[in-house]
Amino acid sequence: MLGLIQDRPLLISSLIEYSGLNHGDVEIVSRSVEGPIHRTNYRNVNLRAKKLAQALGKLGVELGDRIGTIAWNGYRHMEIYFGVSGMGAVCHTINPRLFPEQIAYIVNHAEDKYIFVDLTFVPLIEALKEHLQNVKGFIVMTDEAHMPESDLDNLLCYETLVEAEDGDYAWPQFDEMTACSLCYTSGTTGNPKGVLYANRSTVLHSFCVCTNDGLGVSNRDSILAVVPMFHANAWGLPYAAAMCGAKMVMPGAAMDGPSLYELMEAEEVTLAAGVPTIWMMLLGHVKENNLKFSTMKRTVIGGSAAPRSMIETFVDGHGVEVIHAWGMTETSPLGTTGNLLKKHENLSEKERTDIRVKQGRVVFGVELKITGDDGEELPRDGVAFGDLKVRGPWITSGYFKGEGGDVLDEDGWFTTGDVGTIDPDGYMQITDRSKDVIKSGGEWISSIDVENEALGCPGIVEAAVIAIPHPKWDERPLVIAVKEKDHSVTRDDVIKHLESTLAKWQLPDDVVFVDELPHTATGKLLKTKLREDFKDYTLTTA
Ligand code: AMP
Repeated sequence: MLGLIQDRPLLISSLIEYSGLNHGDVEIVSRSVEGPIHRTNYRNVNLRAKKLAQALGKLGVELGDRIGTIAWNGYRHMEIYFGVSGMGAVCHTINPRLFPEQIAYIVNHAEDKYIFVDLTFVPLIEALKEHLQNVKGFIVMTDEAHMPESDLDNLLCYETLVEAEDGDYAWPQFDEMTACSLCYTSGTTGNPKGVLYANRSTVLHSFCVCTNDGLGVSNRDSILAVVPMFHANAWGLPYAAAMCGAKMVMPGAAMDGPSLYELMEAEEVTLAAGVPTIWMMLLGHVKENNLKFSTMKRTVIGGSAAPRSMIETFVDGHGVEVIHAWGMTETSPLGTTGNLLKKHENLSEKERTDIRVKQGRVVFGVELKITGDDGEELPRDGVAFGDLKVRGPWITSGYFKGEGGDVLDEDGWFTTGDVGTIDPDGYMQITDRSKDVIKSGGEWISSIDVENEALGCPGIVEAAVIAIPHPKWDERPLVIAVKEKDHSVTRDDVIKHLESTLAKWQLPDDVVFVDELPHTATGKLLKTKLREDFKDYTLTTA
């Protein structure tokens, strides 16, 4: 017997229609590419998203068409999120930091019909134009006054398109499983693969982001989304913010410490979300200038492991709670959040941080398990580690156009490529990417553990750990680190520092210093490049 309840589809358009009507005055503040701070609100974003849908309809965009964006976080990008998905097309966010050949590959693979481009990225498109096969036009996200001189013959102006429409448009209703957005993973090997989100999965994910034990996003928040809108939909924040009418603050292209700090203070940011590298720059600026956060209460750190020293600086130094979160493009991306439980209230701050450094507990909707080499589930004892697998209504069921083949096992589990432990309270801790783990004399050394501990050594700004072949032990860890400017920290200082927290067999054999470390397009350490650069390195212990 089926329940007697209305079967209304869960659509992206319902999010912006809701906030447009019920939180119309709540602001969306952006540092614009043209320069000044721009202010709009949910009423206007809903109206302009509708106008955009009308304009795209006139350009021949239909249900299911892919529409690309190469853009920073800003209000026009948000209008595109809702306008494109709201009309039933697919918003394909493109990471501008990818290699140009990869950008051309994904635009062609996605068969993007139109591409929205921020002014900054017009030269990128000009350089690629010969290689883009299906694109009918490029819509520059600016007004007529700022339209660039360009040899592209199919350039359109965003504001001209929007202003020509009246906004008298009812969001269409369609199947909630209709695709709404597409994001290619920035895989470090092979071609990027597309994760295709559905209207339903995105709305369900937004509910989760808004729960207290998710990211706790609410109308009381002013959210600084530093995580880019081209990286797993800015962790779903634009949708979740619309679901509850939270103020959104978008940094545009300026992600340096001083610009972020200024925006946080001016816009009374309460919740900020970004990867550790961004917070490293911000905290550096705050420390150098002896600054404080006057309104920030929580920060979401994810994308890579949040180092203990960073968590301590936020929590102990600034009274800012850290929500350490884990997820992937393939998981929409929220999988686990490191919120503390009631039972942790009376623990010391040190013990609470022992929990905060873990990647956290699953949010409702996601199932998580670890398995051993034989595929059997391992115990949740916080010690056994194995392949991390996930399942749930916002986890991918396969990549766009079937790339990579079947990605689910027969029971519907997706193998993440991460290795981790799960403790009896359900807190998961990533110990490594399966391909980064260091196999030394039959034991596994977590490169992430060694990196985190190395970061706590005075004078070390960033550290990466890779495996170097060793005649006796098979592989041994090498630390590749960046020093603070003019700091005299040495190899021996780092190893001595690590001796206090790591077992002897986990200690790196060597530490080398470099000026900078390579990163992927989403800000993660690019270990494939480091392995290549150090492939002839011989350890002093070998
Ligand atoms: P992406 O799809 O680019 O977001 O990358 C997802 C991968 O980032 C995951 O599979 C993890 O390897 C890594 N990752 C994400 N969040 C964390 C975290 N909090 N700690 C450690 N690794 C993380």
